[in-house]
Amino acid sequence: MIQVAINGYGTIGKRVADAVREQPDMEVRGVAKTRPNFESETAVDKGFPLYAAVEERADQFEEAGLEIAGPVEDLVDAADVVVDATPSGIGAENKSMYEEYDTPALYQGGEDADLVDTSFNARSNFEDATGADHVRVVSCNTTGLSRVIAPLREAYGVEKVRATLVRRGGDPGQTSRGPINDILPNPVTIPSHHGPDVETIFDDLDIDTLGMKVPATLMHMHSLNVTLEEEVDAAEVRDLFAEESRLFQIPERMDIDGSGKLKEYALDAGRPRGDVWENCIWEESVSTVGNDLYLFQGIHQESDVVPENVDAIRAVLGEADAEESIQTTDETMGIGL
Ligand code: NAD
Repeated sequence: MIQVAINGYGTIGKRVADAVREQPDMEVRGVAKTRPNFESETAVDKGFPLYAAVEERADQFEEAGLEIAGPVEDLVDAADVVVDATPSGIGAENKSMYEEYDTPALYQGGEDADLVDTSFNARSNFEDATGADHVRVVSCNTTGLSRVIAPLREAYGVEKVRATLVRRGGDPGQTSRGPINDILPNPVTIPSHHGPDVETIFDDLDIDTLGMKVPATLMHMHSLNVTLEEEVDAAEVRDLFAEESRLFQIPERMDIDGSGKLKEYALDAGRPRGDVWENCIWEESVSTVGNDLYLFQGIHQESDVVPENVDAIRAVLGEADAEESIQTTDETMGIGL
């Protein structure tokens, strides 16, 4: 069994821990937290050994009645791989610790691309991570774009991608975020940083992105225009997408008009935390005009990167190829709405 350490048990880390636990070839060796809070208590309730990320604060856990298995260094030392799901920039600070214990590490999209040997999206460049020591699972938005671009490139060739990303202001638990009542061009400079991020997955891709922020917490929304290298019928593109397990095309009959109903559907379907691991493409929006393809897709920022982290674990350790890993992850998590 692959022993997995999770350093940073917040929005992404706790979801990755649950997904790892579902895998037939992996075990959660432990999770590291900086301080006791409701998430630490849940980790203990779930039976995950809890480690102190900051040694000087270890006694705070004991005062809160939470047993600590040791300092984070012990966890990193004992694990075959560590998933760093700490806030942006902290992963870079942790890199030397992972090197010291010779434990391969996965970082998240908030870290810079030049921190790592390769950026990662399971569908697009799984093999690039084989044997790498430092891998970055790209952000929720880049994951969502890569999953659509990969099959389009393979089937038709892509001349140019133009995407407008309407981004949620914060996650539901992020009380400090906004805007509260506004619509921000964000970043106001064009193109936004998202395009170059997608180019860390496809280095020869021509892509421009524009970003906005809105007072919503549920999901991001992408408005996508892909100029293909050939003229394709929209029905053919829908068939292509239907073959992709992590692309969910919302059928018209479901009457899902936005991210509110999408989340409601995920909850009704019994998804943990109402998570939507797949890109949610409105089937009716998949349209072509000459070589140009258009669509709208909803991206659940808190969860689409979770299966990607699971696949990245197998990729760095060379434990499976892309197809095997994606299939195992999808089956165990129940991906495929
Ligand atoms: P979060 O704030 O919800 O969770 C981070 C956790 O790490 C918290 O529990 C925090 O207490 C803990 N932490 C802080 N400093 C630490 C340290 N030194 N050692 C160990 N733990 C520490 O953040 P998040 O939303 O899960 O984001 C984590 C990473 O994932 C970031 O790089 C972010 O950009 C990326 N990401 C976030 C989202 C999202 O929508 N939330 C989506 C995709 C990628």
